[in-house]
Amino acid sequence: MKKRKLSLGSNGDEAPLSRADVGVFGGSGFYSLFDKFETVKMTTPYGAPSSEITIAEIHGKRVAFLPRHGKNHQYPPHKIPYKANIYALKKLGVKRIISPCAAGSLNFKIAPGDFVVLDQFVDRTHHRDDTFYHGPETVHISSAHPYCTDLQTMALKAGRKLKIKTHKKGTAVIINGPRFSTSAESLYYSNLGYDVINMTQYPEVVLAREQEICFLGIALVTDWDAGLIAKGKVKPVEIKDVLKIFNENIEKSRNLIFEIIKNLPSTRNCLCKTALLNAQIKA
Ligand SMILES: [Zn+2]
Repeated sequence: MKKRKLSLGSNGDEAPLSRADVGVFGGSGFYSLFDKFETVKMTTPYGAPSSEITIAEIHGKRVAFLPRHGKNHQYPPHKIPYKANIYALKKLGVKRIISPCAAGSLNFKIAPGDFVVLDQFVDRTHHRDDTFYHGPETVHISSAHPYCTDLQTMALKAGRKLKIKTHKKGTAVIINGPRFSTSAESLYYSNLGYDVINMTQYPEVVLAREQEICFLGIALVTDWDAGLIAKGKVKPVEIKDVLKIFNENIEKSRNLIFEIIKNLPSTRNCLCKTALLNAQIKA
């Protein structure tokens, strides 16, 4: 294992020593699978990312793993250095990010253990720094379709091949946390037609778009959210089952991520790579 300290300097333009093609948020349990990996410690103009970044080669691609909550889970959702995380991956050369996240179900059709390929979000967070452009440069990116449609298709295909119950689309409502919702809040989100609830997809997804990085969000459903339980049709998942589902989800998500990486084409044909075109306001 090699260890490198990588500083990007104050303007972040220093050429990085290490390179990666794909970024994955999470995956701290994956490293034991690799014979060889490299660890890089980075700094960015936005502070340090959540953790050192581990880079390994998978199916001929260099993949950078960054646990968003830190190695010791020391960053709760509202304290994650989202901008430093995205910026560090960008500086490594990452063009695509795969972002698995734990989620609760707000939809009776989406059961614990299922995966959802996210295609929309509703932001209910607050006080999170969600742009790289605070002026004088002003940018308004489109968020109409915030997730990479090409990666969505690839994730669904991989899920079907591996026989993982994968929903082809879904809307995630992102709450600020760290507390979970009340039954009333959860029922409200469920009645509005949102599918899953999570605390970390926002602002990851929009910050990636501002850096013209393709972004794939996969919700790993762990339990029924409070609103569905309040409706009385489902029972709370017992703690022992939550842990079982959580562990199974880790293994399934690892297989899914590796399968997606295996099939990634070297070039991108989606619109993510030109997200800033016509988004900048110029005098
Ligand atoms: Zn894309």
